[in-house]
Amino acid sequence: MTKLYIVIPCYNEEAVLSETAARLGEKMHRLMSDHIISDSSKVILVDDGSTDKTWELITEIHYSNRIFSGCKLTRNQGHQNALLSGLDCAREKCDAVITMDADLQDDINVIDEFIKKYEEGNEIVYGVRSSRKKDSFFKNKTAKIFYKLMNFMGAEIIPNHADYRLLGSRALESLFEFKEVNLFLRGIVPLIGYKSAKVYYERKERYAGESKYPLKKMISFALDGITSFSIKPIKMITSLGVIFVAVSGTMLIYSLVSYFTGHSVSGWASLITSIWALGGLQLLAIGIIGEYIGKMFLETKKRPRYIIEEFLDEDK
Ligand code: UDP
Ligand code: MG
Repeated sequence: MTKLYIVIPCYNEEAVLSETAARLGEKMHRLMSDHIISDSSKVILVDDGSTDKTWELITEIHYSNRIFSGCKLTRNQGHQNALLSGLDCAREKCDAVITMDADLQDDINVIDEFIKKYEEGNEIVYGVRSSRKKDSFFKNKTAKIFYKLMNFMGAEIIPNHADYRLLGSRALESLFEFKEVNLFLRGIVPLIGYKSAKVYYERKERYAGESKYPLKKMISFALDGITSFSIKPIKMITSLGVIFVAVSGTMLIYSLVSYFTGHSVSGWASLITSIWALGGLQLLAIGIIGEYIGKMFLETKKRPRYIIEEFLDEDK
């Protein structure tokens, strides 16, 4: 029987946590009584430095039901790092681990299918949403652009798969071989390899509370994803440089010809636009390169990706 751990990052989730724990607790007990998962399976709730009552709630849930463990990070480290800290706690304790969101958007009824695929020999099982009907028009469009852009930029990510996935213990161990500080799990997991499968599910609306990914965070998440996975933007800058040199060569010939044929002086408008265009492009290029240098700076420092303040895991 599979010993399953479920890891859930929670950031200011007091509005949904009780309901999530109740539904998930029930689901886990059913899976246990159906002998699908072992009795020592657990759920780890990671508090990602919440400022509301999330940790108090997690403590309460832990003491009222022994299958729930709590892991408290010293401060907010972001979704990806919170996930990783939970995976670290689950490491070496289980056969397989599933990560999911705290807001009940990921359908817990497909856990059975996850386990089935795992038992068929898949080390990684991706939860893929079958449709985006429940999303706003805006989120739908931005998500589409995000996946297109990511693939164009060379990061191989699975479309419509977020962080609802199962990792077998071998895949989990391999994941910890990736030491990067700029963590983008969706890009890293496919790089691990092993046999994998997909499970389709309908993604629901957030049960309560607000999305912790406003537009600003979404954009920075996408940029991080691209710049930690591909050097294509820098290559594009180089190509752009080549094109511009070619254009300036043509312009030189053109201006020489007009000088000798006596059509010079005018042309202020084209001059001013090219000054602005070139200036802008140069700034953009420096910005992109700076982004990579910044990433290298963070990687060389090897700062810890998270620090665990407390881990509630005893059967009391
Ligand atoms: N989350 C986190 N740390 C953060 C932001 C989010 O642990 O800094 C968690 C959050 O509690 C939730 C999950 O990441 O369980 C996904 O966030 P959310 O549901 O707000 O994102 P959305 O589904 O709207 O993309
Ligand atoms: Mg959500």
